[in-house]
Amino acid sequence: MERFTITTRVDEQSKQLGEQVKERLLHLGWMYDDQSPEILISVGGDGTMLHAVHQRIDMIDQVVFVGIHTGTLGFLTDYAVSEVDQLIEDLTTKSPKIDQVFLIQINRKNHRDLPPLFALNEARVENIIKTQRIEVFLNDEYLETFRGNGLCISGQLGSTAYNRSIAGAVIMPDFAALQMTEIAGIHHQLSKSLGSPLIVSPDTKIKLKSDSYYDTILAYDHLHVRLDGINEVTCSRSDKCVKFARYRKTSYIQRLHSLY
Ligand code: NAP
Repeated sequence: MERFTITTRVDEQSKQLGEQVKERLLHLGWMYDDQSPEILISVGGDGTMLHAVHQRIDMIDQVVFVGIHTGTLGFLTDYAVSEVDQLIEDLTTKSPKIDQVFLIQINRKNHRDLPPLFALNEARVENIIKTQRIEVFLNDEYLETFRGNGLCISGQLGSTAYNRSIAGAVIMPDFAALQMTEIAGIHHQLSKSLGSPLIVSPDTKIKLKSDSYYDTILAYDHLHVRLDGINEVTCSRSDKCVKFARYRKTSYIQRLHSLY
């Protein structure tokens, strides 16, 4: 891989580091190609990597991603600032193992189907003002009627992100799954839902139906759209994958330790 591009977070340290990596790779004969890169180097945090993935979503099959973290060790980034030399050496001398992580496909429906959206971490149907009443179906079989602020559907990668903040389970990386976690669920005699995170096979279609999603937001990773006029949101495993270049093994337990 020799055609590369770089996405940096907006802070000075990340921008300078990005420039440094770019100059060194150009010096080693690599070609900077922002239009059709083979590899994208993200410099910043896990959030920067999410932005980079969404920027390239239409050509996701053609690019592999690798990240330098300018903060603590990340989940989507393998190199620390002090390891830039190692990254350059790995990029220019090694063949990486490619880890493929599926994107969550989000379909919205009113009287017609809308173009799908994609998320790497999670999709959230959320309304912090008005209580949501959402009918949940797993592969078209009715599960429950949820009441509360909303529901979060995450994949393995997103299990340590928003999902973890709402007491969802952390899922180890060798286990592909979808997880549904309640956001401020209401539970009493007349309002019953599972009340605990639900982990399902990645091939499960999770359908969330509502009579009115008026004023409700569908947040997907760092992006969002309004759901006015929509009455059905379905989350499922997409055929699209994000490819991460792994030049060395980073312990997932070490990554977890960066959280606490
Ligand atoms: P952001 O500022 O880009 O990210 C918020 C925090 O979530 C940052 O500390 C980020 O790490 C971390 N993060 C992102 N993906 C992660 C992952 N897979 N595992 C562990 N931590 C992760 O926020 P944003 O632009 O609003 O949204 C981007 C993502 O942030 C969302 O997909 C959501 O999962 C997460 N988020 C979490 C909360 C929460 O936990 N309450 C609230 C909002 C958003 P870095 O510092 O390394 O970038």
